[in-house]
Parts: sequence; C-alpha cells; structure tokens
Amino acid sequence: MNRVKPFSLLIKPASASCNLRCEYCFYIDHLDYVRPGDKPVMSDNILEKMIKDYMKIPMPEYSFTWQGGEPTILGLGFFKKAVDFQKKHAPPNAVITNALQTNATLIDKPMADFFAKHNFLLGVSLDGPKEFHNKYRLTVSGDPTHNKVMQGIEHLRQAKVEFNILCLVNSDNVKSPGELYKYYRDKGFNFLQFIPCVEYDDKGELTHYSITGVQWGEFLCKIFDMWYRKDSGRVSIRHFDSVLNYLVKGIYTQCTMDRDCQKMRGPNAESGILSALCDGWQMFYKHTIDRFNQLANAIREENRV
Ligand code: SF4
Repeated sequence: MNRVKPFSLLIKPASASCNLRCEYCFYIDHLDYVRPGDKPVMSDNILEKMIKDYMKIPMPEYSFTWQGGEPTILGLGFFKKAVDFQKKHAPPNAVITNALQTNATLIDKPMADFFAKHNFLLGVSLDGPKEFHNKYRLTVSGDPTHNKVMQGIEHLRQAKVEFNILCLVNSDNVKSPGELYKYYRDKGFNFLQFIPCVEYDDKGELTHYSITGVQWGEFLCKIFDMWYRKDSGRVSIRHFDSVLNYLVKGIYTQCTMDRDCQKMRGPNAESGILSALCDGWQMFYKHTIDRFNQLANAIREENRV
C-alpha cells in the first residue's frame, strides 16, 4: 500500500485580507484586491471538503495551521465550524492540532476561551515595545496597534492559551537587541521567534525597513549572548532551538535552515548565489558555535542520547 508522507495543512481562509496595514507586509499590494461584493471568506462547503479530504488520509497527526492576512477577521463562528468539521470527519483516536498566526488585535475573551478549550497554539506578531512596534504595524487608518495587541495577549493569558511571540527584525528594532530582549523577558514571554525583514524594491535595492546581513549577524550575536548567560534552557528562541536540535539529533526543526538559505537571496540572484543574510549567519555561527556545542553536550549527557 502506498503510504502518504505526513504533512500539515497551511490554510489561508481569509486570503490576504487583514485589518492592519503593516508597512512591510508582503501582502500589502494584495490587501485591497477584493472586488466590491466579493468576500474573501472560505465557504462552508470548501472548508468541510478540505477537512474531510485531509482526514481521509492516514496520518499520525492531523495538523492544521491557520494564517492570513489575518484569519481572526473571520470571527469565532468560522473556527467553531472548522473544529466541528474536524470532529465530524476525524478517524477514531485521531490526534488533531491547530495553530494560528495572528496580529492578536481582534482577540477577545470568547475567542481566547475557545482557543484554550481546543488547544490552539498561537503565534502573535509583536515587534517589541510601543516605540518599535508602532513604527510599522498600523491600522488601515494609520493608528498604532501596540495597545490592541497587548489587550489580545492579555485575553490569551487569562484563558491560558499557549502562544509564542514573532518579532519581525527590521531596520529600526535591529539596532536595539538588548532593549528588545529585556522587554520580552520583562513581559514573561518565554517563546520567541525572530524573523529578518529583507525585501527589495523595483531597482533591486533593499527597502528602507529591511536589514543587511551584517545587521542580522550583530543582532543575533547580541541576543545569543544575553540568552546564553541567563536563559538557555528557560527561554525558547526558535532559531537557537533548531541549531541545538541539529547538533544533538542531526535534524533542523526550522526548515529554512536546512541547507536552503538561498531561498532568501535577492530578486535578481542567479541560482547558487548566497542569501542576502549570509554574512550575518556566518558571523553568528562563528560567534556561537563553541557555546552551542557545550549546550549540545550537556543535553546529550542529560538525555544520554
Ligand atoms: S498583520 Fe500581518 S497580514 Fe496584516 S498587514 Fe500586518 S503583516 Fe500583513
């Protein structure tokens, strides 16, 4: 019998639609593309068929990831339907997981309670304290969003929803890794993911909010130094976890690290030309590899791997 390699579903049920207009959003040219009268909403029929067809395939785990745009603009009712369809079509004893990437500005108590009840794991975009976050993450009318994100996070905390923080590292906050890291730690955010902002304009120049490879390297080195001194083993930083996992088990948990950094090269690069961030990655690995090896040895010892 042909076995299908397990895979998860990445679903964009509201397409690129979003209630925000972050300046660096890669969907920015598409956020308003919907024609008058059209609704960027996955219909109930499509939703059910997608879930039903996926759950017909034998899998050790059925993994749904909801993304946008902003998926929560569809409201709680949409996710209730999705979970109902999952229950209806799940084979006996199926393991089902749901993850959702959000700007958190629309999360209220009922939604948070629902996510908690159904064990959703959330990724919340937060670019640091107000002065950094509000520089690029604005509403359609240009208003700041930091307060709304923090309100959403408060609802998640009250309901005990698991979430991690995604920070887009741009030309502004890249200069302040210490302030950024301290802010996240003071807020008690123990699951962090840093994502480099790299985008090119029509002339092939980096946009003003993008970072260079050297900036990325310096940023990561400083974050690592702070994390290593006090927080390794207590704070999860996705990239660092992936390096450690590779050293201990030979597997990267972050697919973009899997010999594929070329995916982040410039728009005109020929195949084989390295990532715009390559200088930074090299700087980072040279700076950290001895200490990563020490941590990996300690983990092997502890687990007797
Ligand atoms: S919240 Fe996300 S999808 Fe919405 S505008 Fe900002 S980056 Fe784009």
